[in-house]
Amino acid sequence: MKTIIEPFRIKSVEPIYFTTKQEREAILKNAYYNPFYIHARDVLIDLLTDSGTNAMSSHQWAGIMEGDESYAGSESFFHFENTIKDITGMPIVIPTHQGRASEKILFSIIGGKGKYIVSNTLFDTTRANIEFSGAEGVDLLCEEGKLPEVPAPFKGNMNVEALKKFIKEKGAANIPLCVITVTNNSGGGQPVSMQNIKEVKKVCTENNIPLFIDACRFAENCYFIKLREKGYENKPVFDIARELFSYADGCTMSAKKDAIANIGGFLAMHSKELADQCRNLLIITEGFPTYGGLAGRDLEAIAIGLNEVMDEHYLRYRIRSIEYITEKLVAAGVPVMQPAGGHAVYIDAKLFLPHIPVDQYPGQALTGALYVEGGIRGVEIGSLMFGKYDQDKKLIPAQMELVRLAIPRRVYTQSHIDYVTEVIIEVFNKRDEIKGLEIVEEPPMLRHFTAKLKIAGDHMN
Ligand SMILES: *Cc1c(COP(=O)(O)O)cnc(C)c1O
Repeated sequence: MKTIIEPFRIKSVEPIYFTTKQEREAILKNAYYNPFYIHARDVLIDLLTDSGTNAMSSHQWAGIMEGDESYAGSESFFHFENTIKDITGMPIVIPTHQGRASEKILFSIIGGKGKYIVSNTLFDTTRANIEFSGAEGVDLLCEEGKLPEVPAPFKGNMNVEALKKFIKEKGAANIPLCVITVTNNSGGGQPVSMQNIKEVKKVCTENNIPLFIDACRFAENCYFIKLREKGYENKPVFDIARELFSYADGCTMSAKKDAIANIGGFLAMHSKELADQCRNLLIITEGFPTYGGLAGRDLEAIAIGLNEVMDEHYLRYRIRSIEYITEKLVAAGVPVMQPAGGHAVYIDAKLFLPHIPVDQYPGQALTGALYVEGGIRGVEIGSLMFGKYDQDKKLIPAQMELVRLAIPRRVYTQSHIDYVTEVIIEVFNKRDEIKGLEIVEEPPMLRHFTAKLKIAGDHMN
């Protein structure tokens, strides 16, 4: 088999800036060992997130120019609306400025005290919006999804037995919604099978619970279905997506992911009654229903991106590029989550740095080492992000200590990716030199964004 190549050529380029290792040591120290404080210009390869960091196509940029900026009834809105109706089969489409705005509107209406929203795994903004409404979010992930180094084809699946049991325990009347996140972002970008979605839908229907899809990475998920699920080998991704959405009553979406845009989102649904309530909130928070917090040009770029993302040459390259890094790292003995997910590589920092205790944040220490060695920026998904304290201010660690390297869509080439794996392997070979960290300052919530750290035991200057 021949090399799977990037299915595009480059028309416009953006420089990246080189720094020396000595410079990066100083930059990291000045950034309090927290990558969120590093200026993007000082980063060589930025794998902090795949959200909104996509490279748009020449066709999308042309769409930006053609965007209709009319306040009401813009042409770009109808292009946007028709594209989403086509893919989802849902008759009502509501634009928002990004995914969490859709969540905020939806859960303000259907959430509330005493209610439970069940899911395979809720993404953090989804969970936060559910909890903000007073409701409780409940993750019912399949067992294999909880074992990072054990490969399985659909580790994002919901545990259907656990769902039945939960409904029996709490009563269907207290569960206003079930959400399936495709792919499961917080669980390593792992896909959900069509079979699982059908089974969940059946249980939901029997109990009169609506099913929504968190569709941020629907195209990546549908491509995994094509590759891994019997009966889908020869179906176009568009048809797979159509079927996937056919089991749902609605969806929320961040266009910063699989719409290959830089901003945007939407809600789509069947229920006119729910949509009327959503639009009432939309008008006071986002804007008129034909633009919802977006410019006409954004609506245009999203409509075009949603079609481009289902191109199978694109998806083959996309999924392969994540698998390619994972394979190289596995061959070098680097502990990573398996199999490769759809949008990111997850390094197991606990196994990578066994000499650093969890209360010295091995994941954060590893993000620092990758930056100093090669100018690569990733993010810790471990005890700095999810850790809590007990009464004695002792750390209650997260379940896993991971470093996520998220790959922006269509941005980096194979040589960038080769360079990334070389840096990781080099850091792995001298992992004993990496030191643990301690926190010197932190906010009470979402501390990983703004916490300040230092090398454990070092004096601050
Ligand atoms: C990014 C994301 C969201 C939130 O979308 P934003 O556009 O960042 O507000 C919700 N769910 C999942 C699975 C995501 O990846």
